[in-house]
Amino acid sequence: MPVLTCESISAGYGDLVAIRDLSLVLEEGSLFGLVGPNGAGKSTLLKAITGVVPLRSGEVTLRGESIGSLPPEVRARKGMSMVQEGRRLWPTLNVRDNLMLGAYHEKGKEQRVREEEVLELFPALRAILKRSAGVLSGGEQQMVAVGRALMARPTVLLIDEPSLGLAPIIVDEIYAALPKLLNHGVSIILVEQEVRRVLDIATKLAVLHEGQIVYEGDGKKFRNDPEALNEYYLGKSDKQEDAR
Ligand code: ATP
Repeated sequence: MPVLTCESISAGYGDLVAIRDLSLVLEEGSLFGLVGPNGAGKSTLLKAITGVVPLRSGEVTLRGESIGSLPPEVRARKGMSMVQEGRRLWPTLNVRDNLMLGAYHEKGKEQRVREEEVLELFPALRAILKRSAGVLSGGEQQMVAVGRALMARPTVLLIDEPSLGLAPIIVDEIYAALPKLLNHGVSIILVEQEVRRVLDIATKLAVLHEGQIVYEGDGKKFRNDPEALNEYYLGKSDKQEDAR
């Protein structure tokens, strides 16, 4: 059974339908890479999965259970965790307290066990646990944001553009953590602008254009020819019809 499915979901804002009749399947322990131009609806899709943006139609299931009408906090408790674009940390709280917010409902002992797991994944955080999040570098903030999401021990982790505004060497460090998470059984949907990054790691890749998936398939297909993806990006490809 897939860990997560979206079945013909639509969602939007006011008159705008940002994602339309969209379906996807996330297999356990796999990484589903989602790319596409600005405004394609990538963030909206993640928000519709977590419940931040309500569904207008369709269904979302987690391990076979219908969750599409549940509020975000209930979906989170059932194992859904999101790292939002732009990190969204509490700037006046220190790193440790930001991490703890990801497991606020757990007892102190359990929180410390989970914190240790996060620190093993991102050792650079160990030395800055008492530093305010607001004074950290972008890369450090991104590690804290991912770490905070992991403190909830999610079944499904949704990550929105983790490389945004970061130096390549820092992005390498963040991406190095992802296969380790997959090995631990976490399933990931990763939204990314840097297509090459996703190609290297995605089990499955989808291109979103104007709220619909116009290509879905094996990430490897584009590994040797990432330029081919541009056709899908720009919505010009004749191949789109075949790919659907
Ligand atoms: P980007 O890569 O720029 O983040 P995206 O693919 O994540 O883009 P979304 O942010 O999901 O795209 O936006 C999809 C559409 O919905 C766009 O037309 C955007 O302007 C619109 N939109 C996004 N958020 C809101 C909002 N809160 N209110 C109204 N419209 C919105």
